[in-house]
Amino acid sequence: MIRFEQVSVSYDGAGAPALRGVDLTVPEGELCLLVGPSGAGKSTLLGTVSGLVPHFTGGTLHGRVTVAGRDTRTHRPRELADVVGTVGQDPLAHFVTDTVEDELAYGMESLGLAPGVMRRRVEETLDLLGLAALRDRPIATLSGGQQQRVAIGSVLTTHPRVLVLDEPTSALDPGAAEEVLAVLQRLVHDLGTTVLMAEHRLERVVQYADQVLLLPAPGAAPVLGDPAALMAVSPVQPPVVALGRLAGWSPPPLSVRDARRRAAPLRERLAQLAPPAGPDPAGAPAPAGRPPPRAAPASRAVPRAPPPVAPPR
Ligand code: ADP
Repeated sequence: MIRFEQVSVSYDGAGAPALRGVDLTVPEGELCLLVGPSGAGKSTLLGTVSGLVPHFTGGTLHGRVTVAGRDTRTHRPRELADVVGTVGQDPLAHFVTDTVEDELAYGMESLGLAPGVMRRRVEETLDLLGLAALRDRPIATLSGGQQQRVAIGSVLTTHPRVLVLDEPTSALDPGAAEEVLAVLQRLVHDLGTTVLMAEHRLERVVQYADQVLLLPAPGAAPVLGDPAALMAVSPVQPPVVALGRLAGWSPPPLSVRDARRRAAPLRERLAQLAPPAGPDPAGAPAPAGRPPPRAAPASRAVPRAPPPVAPPR
């Protein structure tokens, strides 16, 4: 779906290329997570897909990037709007209108679609992203997660085959990030959209990735492959991967649940090493450094009243 052929990008005046030796294909309908240290060229790579590089950033692109067969060097971002949707970290920077519904319609206006088609696509997108109840709301009054969903919706109405996201959850709290990731998963699983995303909050996204595209260092050739295999060698990693690598687990776990499962034999071994559990013999002094056990607080000992049952309608 996204094909890179011997791609490199050099910005004017820079001593070395920002991106070098990219030669790979991101398959259709997968969530591909772009991983690498700051300055490795992640935003530059995303820009070559959306057409922002080199059309808006300057610099020189060697090689070829095609999305659904369209060359991003010979097509400006506007001419790619029906194949690539682009979403950044700050949704407010993206908006051009004031209300949710207007924003969703705006992206289609340059495509010259019939009014009936535009109306239908706005309705579909409101439903798909769970935004129907917010349709008339001023965008400025929405939460961060809602705004990011509107930003995604506003590029989806043109029915792009590829979605490019640069740090879409970095500025969001964990709950809002979950909302956005749920939407992205729905797009990949239900609509077969190809998602290429850079996100430095790796702990939020790595477990959802079908593939990882690793840019190990500035100017180093990227590697595309299995998320766990690449996390085993990546210079940047979420804490759970770092823990797994420390424990010598290969491949490392990608989620806390994964780690808990992998830790089961370790927990058993630790339990065998620990002294047998049981009450301290009467009168024996408590071991140094550990306070004697306290009775449970009264509030915990009293069972809670069950929650009220809603009357039948
Ligand atoms: P990342 O997203 O991994 O942090 P970037 O693609 O933003 O990496 O940057 C890669 C390199 O290219 C950096 O050295 C950065 O300073 C440089 N760079 C990025 N954008 C531009 C630009 N528009 N003009 C000149 N240099 C740039």
